[in-house]
Amino acid sequence: MSSQREGSCRFRWPWCKRESNEEVIRTLRQRNAELEALHTITSIIAGSLELDAMLEAMMQTILRITRTQAGGIWLLDRREHRLRLAYLEGYPDEVQAKLREIPAGQLLEGEVAETGEARFIRDLRKEKGGAWLLSPRFLTVATVPLLTKGKVVGVLSIAGEVGAISEETFRLLQNIGAQVGLGIEKAILYHEQQEQRRLAEALAESAAIVGSSLELEEVLDRLLEQAARILPADALNIMLIEGDRVRPIRWRGYEKFPCAEELPKLDLPLDTYPSWELMMRHKHTIIIPEIPAEMWREAENWRWLHSYVGAPILIKDQVVGFFNIDGSRPYQFDEADAARLSIFARYAGTALEHARLYRQLRTYTEELEQRVAERTERLRARNARLQAIFNSTSEGLILVEGDRFECANPVAARWLERTLNPADAEKLRQAIVEVARTAREAGEESRRELTLGGIDFLLKARPIEGEEATRLVTVQDITPWKAMARVYERFISTVSHELRSPITAIRLYAELLRNAPEERRLSYLDALFKEIDHQTELIEGILRLTRIDAGRQRLTLVPLDLATHVQAAIEHHTVMLEEKKLHLEYTPPDPPPTVLGQPEELGLVFHNLLRNAIQYTPPEGTIRIVIGEEEREGRRWATVTISDTGIGISAEDLPHIFKRFYRSSRAQRYFPHGTGLGLALVKEIINLHGGMVEVESEVERGTTFKLYLPLFTSQAAMHEVKAKAAA
Ligand code: ADP
Repeated sequence: MSSQREGSCRFRWPWCKRESNEEVIRTLRQRNAELEALHTITSIIAGSLELDAMLEAMMQTILRITRTQAGGIWLLDRREHRLRLAYLEGYPDEVQAKLREIPAGQLLEGEVAETGEARFIRDLRKEKGGAWLLSPRFLTVATVPLLTKGKVVGVLSIAGEVGAISEETFRLLQNIGAQVGLGIEKAILYHEQQEQRRLAEALAESAAIVGSSLELEEVLDRLLEQAARILPADALNIMLIEGDRVRPIRWRGYEKFPCAEELPKLDLPLDTYPSWELMMRHKHTIIIPEIPAEMWREAENWRWLHSYVGAPILIKDQVVGFFNIDGSRPYQFDEADAARLSIFARYAGTALEHARLYRQLRTYTEELEQRVAERTERLRARNARLQAIFNSTSEGLILVEGDRFECANPVAARWLERTLNPADAEKLRQAIVEVARTAREAGEESRRELTLGGIDFLLKARPIEGEEATRLVTVQDITPWKAMARVYERFISTVSHELRSPITAIRLYAELLRNAPEERRLSYLDALFKEIDHQTELIEGILRLTRIDAGRQRLTLVPLDLATHVQAAIEHHTVMLEEKKLHLEYTPPDPPPTVLGQPEELGLVFHNLLRNAIQYTPPEGTIRIVIGEEEREGRRWATVTISDTGIGISAEDLPHIFKRFYRSSRAQRYFPHGTGLGLALVKEIINLHGGMVEVESEVERGTTFKLYLPLFTSQAAMHEVKAKAAA
């Protein structure tokens, strides 16, 4: 009974008269200590917003004041209707797991949370058949609700051996529970706000990273970094599915664990873990609060891993990989963590999708670049070709736009800037502009000829497709054609004159013959035949030269003995030589040189030269013919020299004697029946054979013609002859 009275007296204030002085003093001290404890704890709560630190400090203080060994604080998750452990001290390891999460109504703490009533149990063995007894070390327990405005926000519990907790301590705890609830709720709110802010920051950062132009690997690394900021992870990684295999591509935080080296090399079948299969099937996050120990029985390096949360990475609703979070403690992750992780997994999916699109785009861009480069190269090559043609053509080319020269090739530039004097250059410029304008106005090609500084120009302006205002003007130097045309005109008039004279003579002799007396007829007939021969020779000569000019004189070259053909020419002229009593000096060579030639043509050459020597040498003169071989200009030649002691050729006539129809006036006087074509034919034919003709002469002393023909023995000469003949 006394103990009961004592017990009831404990709740009285110290001025209770029945108490002894010592008792009063002890009670006052006790009250004082309690007030101080309460004060300390409320100031801890008031001074701190960091929930974890605050709860730790509070628990430490309570354990110190109450002199108990173990205690814990749980916060109530109203939505989930369960207590979550916020701080635990002094409980053995095997108990901790059970206390981590306590559904409302279960265990002593759960009951207090549900009823809102504090409980002090002196001996747990006697309560509910010992069901609440978690450890034989802690038989006494005091559990109080943490209240805010009468509402339970959590539970505080201390435990110790029997008798370790007094009624006063229980009362103090109740007071604390009633006082600290608000502070705790404030701290929880603050904590949640902080969490929210950090989450918002991390997500904003993640969105920026995904939207940035960083490389995929860097984007994923930065996402891992942000996820690590928000989630209570020890290590985290991103794995990709390739076919039916799973491989990690980026990771973070494994360096402190024994699997650090193994992780990058992982390459596992997709069905290795049920968690992957579940994520594949449900496309949802998965939490494994406590990984069964047997799972890692074989995998020594992974024994540290106790909890896991994972999220599938989706692209267009297809699971392409996993965002894995690993924890070294059981129950390290909750639903909120899983929800947050799913956001990071979404970002990772977007990043992978971006990377895929970017890769596609890059491939496309590269292909495009390649095509553009090829096309540019083709255009460049074509441009270079056009430029080369533009620059190397012998015609002047000018692009004229309006009155302006767009560009001019080097030939045109040379005429405009160097060849012509400034006044003529300006005239050419004007003419170019005008011919371009005429072409533009007429809408078709226009031409114009003009002569400046002794050069005959032909200007032609043509339109350019797709360029309305631009005309391409070609400037041709047609001086050689003009000169040729002049020569041709002169040739025609000369030829017609030359042909007409013998015909006039023939007609004259024919007239004379008709009315001539018998005795004169024969001489007229002789003269008539001479004129006919002359005419025939003239026509044959002209035809032969025309054939050569037209390039139609094809030579069929055969090896021939020069001496034979020279002798044939001599034999042909024996009568003439005798008539004029001319001396012929000729020794046949031994051995006779062989040349490649056309017998008929070379025969004509010897014939013409010998006939000239006979014609232009007065009676009793001497003609010498020498056939030999000679080294000249690095090759062997066969030579034929025909010299006479005739009238010779003056220095003024000498440069002209190979021209067609040219006859010196002395020659005309001395021998009126010449054609002026003999030497021209000699020169052309010898040229065709790859040879040369030289002449030396002195008036009244005589003339020497020397022919050089390539020796047949000389291979080089033969080739050259063939080449020339083919040309
Ligand atoms: P032609 O019919 O006048 O002989 P050629 O072409 O054979 O025509 O000769 C041209 C000119 O060269 C001759 O008119 C003559 O003036 C001169 N000539 C050619 N051979 C001799 C020569 N052996 N002696 C002097 N003059 C010559």
